[in-house]
Amino acid sequence: MSVDFVRLKRGYDLYAQEYEEAALRAMRSGWYILGKELEEFEAGFAEYMGAKYCIGVNSGLDALILAVRALDIGPGDEVIVPANTYIASVLGITENGATPVFVEPDRYFCIDAEQIEQAVTDKTKAILPVHLYGQPCEMDTIQTIAEKYGLYVIEDCAQSHGAVYRGKKTGTFGKIGCFSFYPTKPMGALGDSGALLTDDENIAQKLRALRNYGSAKKYVNDICGKNTRLDEVQAAVLKVSMAHLQEGNAWRNRIAGMYLEGIENPLVRLPETRNGAEHVYHVFPLLCERREELQRYLLDKGIHTLIHYPIPPHLQKCYEYLGHRKGEYPLSESYAAQELSLPIYAGMPDEEVKLVTDAVNSFRED
Ligand SMILES: *Cc1c(COP(=O)(O)O)cnc(C)c1O
Repeated sequence: MSVDFVRLKRGYDLYAQEYEEAALRAMRSGWYILGKELEEFEAGFAEYMGAKYCIGVNSGLDALILAVRALDIGPGDEVIVPANTYIASVLGITENGATPVFVEPDRYFCIDAEQIEQAVTDKTKAILPVHLYGQPCEMDTIQTIAEKYGLYVIEDCAQSHGAVYRGKKTGTFGKIGCFSFYPTKPMGALGDSGALLTDDENIAQKLRALRNYGSAKKYVNDICGKNTRLDEVQAAVLKVSMAHLQEGNAWRNRIAGMYLEGIENPLVRLPETRNGAEHVYHVFPLLCERREELQRYLLDKGIHTLIHYPIPPHLQKCYEYLGHRKGEYPLSESYAAQELSLPIYAGMPDEEVKLVTDAVNSFRED
C-alpha cells in the first residue's frame, strides 16, 4: 500500500456534485469574465473573513504583486519578509523593483516578530508576514511595530485560509491580505486563482483597476495595470470550496492531532502551536537532522513526503543579485535542511495517517 502526499481527487469527491453543478451553472450562463459569480464570491469571502472588500485575481502571486503595487512600493523601497518563506512572497516584492529585507523565523516557523524592529530602516515601507504552514504569525507585535514606524502590513495568507489569531482571521490584520486558491491550498479552486482583502475603499478601487489593465472605466486608463482576473467558472467553484473550508480545516486538524499524539521518536521534532493561534495545518512540518534518510526510509515504505522548502529565497540563484551568503540566516537554513512535511489533506483516511505514524516511529538510528 502506498500513501500519496496529497490526492486532490479525494477532496473533490467529498463535494463532487456541488462542484459540478457550480461549474455547469457558470459555463451555461454565457458570461465568463467579471460577472455575477465573481461578485457573489467576493462579497461572500469578504464577509466570511471579516473584511470590507475582496478583489479576486488570477493567482496568489498576482495578489502579492498587486498589493505591493497598490501601496506605491517600488524601486528604493524595502519590505521586511521572513527568510524561510516560499519564493512567491519575495517575488511579490521584487516584481515591483522593491528590495526584500529578510528576517529569521521563530520556533513556529513564522517571521520572528521580536527581530523585525532591528531590520527597519528609513527605506522600509512594509512588513510582509507569511502565515506559513497555516499558522498565524505573532500579529500583536507586528502591528505595534508597523504603527510605531508608519509601515504597511501586507499578509501572505496563501496557506492560512480560516486561521485565527486571538479571535481574528488572518488576512484582516494588515492593510491588505493576499490569498492563493491553488488547488492544494486549504481553500482551493480547480485551477489557478487568488484574492486580496482590504478595508480601505480607495485601495480596493485601485486593486480592481490594477487587475483589469489599470482601467476603472472601460477604455480609460489612469494607471498601468495587468490582466489578472478571477474567471466566472473558478469563482463558482470557489463558492463551494468556501462553504466547506471549515470542514477541511477540521479534517486536517484531526490528522494533526493524530500525528501529535501518535508520533514518538527522539530523532524527530514535532511542530508547536503559538498561544492564541488556531492553526489550519496546510502543512504538517517535522524537523529531523537526518531528514534525507527519514524521507528515503518513508519512501521505501511507500509513503510520499515533501520538503517546504529545500532552498531559502536568499540562496536562490534568481536572488544572487541581492548579495546574500550561505550562513547569513542560519535558522532559516537549518529549517531548510531539516524540514519534512507529512501527508495531511481533507479526504485522507485514518488508516493512512496510522501507517505514516507507525513508519515515522519505526525510524531508528543504525
Ligand atoms: C502558494 C503560495 C503563494 C503563491 O500562490 P499561487 O496561487 O501559487 O501564485 C504565495 N505565498 C505562499 C506562502 C504560498 O504558499
